[in-house]
Amino acid sequence: MALRKLEEIPVTGKRVFIRADLNVPIRDGKITDTTRIDEALPAMKWVIANGGHPVIASHLGRPKGKPSAALTLRPVAEYLADVLHVKVALAEDCVGEKTLAQTRALGPREALLLENLRFHAGEEANDPGFARQLAALADVYVNDAFGTAHRAHASTVGMVPLVAARAIGPLMQREIENLSPLLGTPARPFVIVLGGAKVADKIGFVRHLLTRIDALLVGGAMAYTFLRAQGVEVGDSLVVPTELDLAHEMLDSAATRGVALLLPSDHVAVQQIAPEAPSRITAPGVPAGWKGVDIGPATIRRFADKIVHAKTIFWNGPLGIFETKPFDRGTMAIATEIARSGAFSVVGGGDSAAAVLQSGHAEEISHISTGGGAALEFLEGRQLPGIAALEA
Ligand code: AMP
Repeated sequence: MALRKLEEIPVTGKRVFIRADLNVPIRDGKITDTTRIDEALPAMKWVIANGGHPVIASHLGRPKGKPSAALTLRPVAEYLADVLHVKVALAEDCVGEKTLAQTRALGPREALLLENLRFHAGEEANDPGFARQLAALADVYVNDAFGTAHRAHASTVGMVPLVAARAIGPLMQREIENLSPLLGTPARPFVIVLGGAKVADKIGFVRHLLTRIDALLVGGAMAYTFLRAQGVEVGDSLVVPTELDLAHEMLDSAATRGVALLLPSDHVAVQQIAPEAPSRITAPGVPAGWKGVDIGPATIRRFADKIVHAKTIFWNGPLGIFETKPFDRGTMAIATEIARSGAFSVVGGGDSAAAVLQSGHAEEISHISTGGGAALEFLEGRQLPGIAALEA
């Protein structure tokens, strides 16, 4: 069955359970970055504008199945009330008689935010009893939390068939619409830019996309595992010895399929990772006693040359230790090149999304995915449990 969209479902007078991802950073009771909430607003606004009663649910942090004062969604409820301009009550518990009564008492322009789903172990365990209690709170179920769609939890899977009507929210819809073209017949050349630390986390989707791509540009820490696999000196750069086989596999399959796999040919190297640490550009590898922390200028030019001609680009993972300036230069340069390329460009993963925002070019990127792990699993061609549950 095809997925139904929120706007295809009647919501007037109905309690609409919206599973959102409101897992925002909170310090001393204050939200330090509201992006995730802001992105989740359209579903809530739609329901309110159409006379429905939003029952909003999310997890926050990792309370491990027990209530925790530090992980209350109270600051989120206050922020939602401000930006939605409606009354937003926080239910003390996400399930139970009192919460059920609160959902039934919701009037026009009133919303209920359920307390942190993960205060109950039944959420992550996808416990049927807990799922039934959640389902009792709703007439319509909407999943707008793409970032948790790869997890089979009570609020993303268990409760779904127990609610009469179900749909995907606009945020989830945007993710599916923008990621799906990469699995179909993307415009060529299709270039993947890969960075970050672990090859194991990313090899799955690269394997799956290998028949569709023309070039794979590898930077970040994982490039050193690849260079070591090729016998290049990498000094004290981060190498994951257990991933050398995966690097060999990727090098071999790229060669077999005629995919250009580009590795850094020069590096920003330091003896110690610190902002003021003296650095030098080394090539072709990194000498003993030095660590590669960013791609060098010649590598930026070689990568840019591929990006400039690309028609489709997917980028995941920073190309250096971008949290420590000035080792963010390579990542910023590549973010800028991708933005200027005019290609259909998709960025997935928290670090790369943050880097794009930092570069000031977010507007020019076709799609910045809100789900790191979920986006990669989607691109592995796997059915995400949270989406499959809505199709059933
Ligand atoms: P991942 O979560 O696998 O995408 O990895 C992201 C992390 O990789 C970031 O925290 C970066 O600082 C780190 N990283 C990127 N390049 C390097 C490098 N050359 N050496 C060490 N860490 C790096």
